[in-house]
Amino acid sequence: MDCIFCKIIAGEIPSTKVYEDDLIYAFRDINAQAPEHVLIVPKTHIASANEITAENCAVVAHIFAKIGEIAALVGIKDDGYRIINNCGKNGGQTVMHLHFHLLGGKDLGEKLV
Ligand code: AMP
Ligand code: ZN
Repeated sequence: MDCIFCKIIAGEIPSTKVYEDDLIYAFRDINAQAPEHVLIVPKTHIASANEITAENCAVVAHIFAKIGEIAALVGIKDDGYRIINNCGKNGGQTVMHLHFHLLGGKDLGEKLV
């Protein structure tokens, strides 16, 4: 499959790993939008939030079960952070493999919501 994040998970494209377990992989965004910017992805290919189902949603719960631990690994747990998922065209999604942006390391300022 021609998916850049599947290739990163497989080690075919280099990345800076932050955290990995059987289900998920977390690595630094190549175009950081904050002092700390980590992408957290399921190891299974789920194209977007639209493709989360009752059958595959356990991995999404696992991402959120681990997110505080991943935030701690990059030193942003205590001061806080923002988690963002972009879905589809209007959401601005550019890589069609479900991912959550974890952003922090400064006051992130203006909010959309
Ligand atoms: P989105 O726009 O929500 O689909 O987010 C895709 C993210 O993937 C962007 O923030 C990109 O900077 C990031 N990205 C794309 N290619 C790579 C790569 N090879 N390594 C790390 N991050 C990447
Ligand atoms: Zn993929």
